[in-house]
Amino acid sequence: MASKRDYYEILGVNRNASEAELKKAYRRLAMKYHPDRNQGDKDAAEHFKEASEAYEILSDAQKRASYDQFGHAGVDPSSMGGGPGGAGFGGFSDIFGDIFGDIFGGGGHPGGRDYRGADLRYNLKINLEGAVLGSTVKIRVPTYVSCGGCHGTGAAKGSQPSTCQDCEGMGQVRMQQGFFTVQQTCPTCHGAGQVITNPCAACHGQGRVQQQKTLSVKVPAGVDNGDRIRLEGEGEAGSKGSPSGDLYVHIHVNDHPIFVRHGSDLQCEMPINFVTAALGGELEVPTLTGKVKLKIPSETQSGKVFRVRGKGVKPIRSNMTGDLLCRVFVETPVNLSIEQKDMLKQFHHSIMTDNKNHSPKERSWFDRVKQFIDGIKHKT
Ligand SMILES: [Zn+2]
Ligand SMILES: [Zn+2]
Repeated sequence: MASKRDYYEILGVNRNASEAELKKAYRRLAMKYHPDRNQGDKDAAEHFKEASEAYEILSDAQKRASYDQFGHAGVDPSSMGGGPGGAGFGGFSDIFGDIFGDIFGGGGHPGGRDYRGADLRYNLKINLEGAVLGSTVKIRVPTYVSCGGCHGTGAAKGSQPSTCQDCEGMGQVRMQQGFFTVQQTCPTCHGAGQVITNPCAACHGQGRVQQQKTLSVKVPAGVDNGDRIRLEGEGEAGSKGSPSGDLYVHIHVNDHPIFVRHGSDLQCEMPINFVTAALGGELEVPTLTGKVKLKIPSETQSGKVFRVRGKGVKPIRSNMTGDLLCRVFVETPVNLSIEQKDMLKQFHHSIMTDNKNHSPKERSWFDRVKQFIDGIKHKT
């Protein structure tokens, strides 16, 4: 640290450089020596640190004035007030917010430097039990992964990507269009700021290769059709060492042979014979976690819905478990023997002659039909 280089020299600007010039100079150096782009290169890391320090000092008017007057002694952290470490380089995050905010920053940057891998979508079909009770599913996804041959740089072993000559590592070039100067993504390096002169054979300079990978997906209890589970960083690998995208697992719940889900409730339809419907009894009802007994009262009509509490679904965003709704329908007996048919005829005769209202709905329906027909007769 004894013989520090001059800050202006480091940034390659003259002593009356404007703020914009400083920024531009630092930006160029930062792009060139950024650790992400020079993995394992100690020299580059040193250059990066040096440039960052120079910019940190010179971009601050007060520190710059002090540096201009006293040189390194004027700004050396150890000789400045504020105690040990007080005026050190805690300001790095500010620099990063300032400089990198608009270089690497998301979204709208016209240079298109975002080499983050694409998000992937995987359609996962699961059965109702797995969706309601939760499950772990292994899936295989085709994906790009960072190339092992070049550690994602795209450059052949022993070589490094070099700074693009056309844009000097900026990733952007200025073009004159009429009165205007416009910035455009550098056509040579496509905005990367670097070119690969000696591409890695395994990935042809892409920095990534396609592979199948097996993932274990934890499906939380209560998921429903259309829900998606995000697996961070499991999407496509970014090119040239950039972060991977995410994998979105879209849930599709297969139809169940017995149950249909409606929100937090499960519904099923259950046939019962007409004797049980008339006399009452006990039925075994299936649920997703085993059978439960259901009391059928006497005189149960077709279409009656029985609610089995707490045997439905607990949706992901709720802590209330729904119910199982069992709709019964009375099944007319088939394949009757002659004796059985005779018994039914006797039975029918019995209920038709004892004058007790055994079929109130049937009777009231016929009454309504009679009124309707009579009404027509009166009008005509
Ligand atoms: Zn490679
Ligand atoms: Zn370029």
